[in-house]
Amino acid sequence: MRLEETPSPNHDDRRHKVDLLVLHYTGMETGQAALDRMRDPEAKVSAHYMIWEDGRVARLVEESRRAWHAGVSTWQGDDDLNSRSVGIEIVNGGHDFPLPGKQLPPYPDAQIEAVIELSGQILLRHSIPQVRVVGHSDIAPLRKIDPGEHFPWPRLAQAGIGLWPPEDAGAGCVWMGGDPGGLNRQLAAIGYALADVPAALRAFQRRFLPDAVTGMADARTLRRLAHVAEAYAGTSSPQA
Ligand SMILES: [Zn+2]
Repeated sequence: MRLEETPSPNHDDRRHKVDLLVLHYTGMETGQAALDRMRDPEAKVSAHYMIWEDGRVARLVEESRRAWHAGVSTWQGDDDLNSRSVGIEIVNGGHDFPLPGKQLPPYPDAQIEAVIELSGQILLRHSIPQVRVVGHSDIAPLRKIDPGEHFPWPRLAQAGIGLWPPEDAGAGCVWMGGDPGGLNRQLAAIGYALADVPAALRAFQRRFLPDAVTGMADARTLRRLAHVAEAYAGTSSPQA
């Protein structure tokens, strides 16, 4: 992994030990524009790392410091997620800078390999549980849609970064219906805040059912939700 030191002044003291990894896309026209912004004291934003399309890794903030990437956000009942997380910005134009035809720009292989390598080191270094590897949209569903439905979560999960149970694994599981509290309970069991349930459901789909980001609780979504919630429940629970 090629690490380049590009320090940012935008950080302060942590108020909690690290127990979360947050992945973002930069959502800007170029990586350079994103890097410049995160190093600008006026912008008051940063991340610990930024990963270029070719896999180079820029370090902006030491992991011992609180970088400013998550904003107002919640996961598994915790807030002040900047205090608890390491944040990685991944260079990608995202929804604001699509390819011609409105196609979301792909994440190149070299970039994803670097995301996997760096994330693996971070998870080990801080003993972060798999259920606490999140995208920005997971923790701020009303405000954020990054790293986007084109982010290769299944590939990361295969490499041991985060949970992504394959969809067909739940094919035998039938949604029984008649349990209006079930949807909320399952979203919460994964970690989503319920302040706005349709937004939380869309964030869930963006991550776990990325070809159907509708906000609708249709049968396929409910099956997937039950299956993912079960996978989360069966894995190491977050610390108190
Ligand atoms: Zn973000």
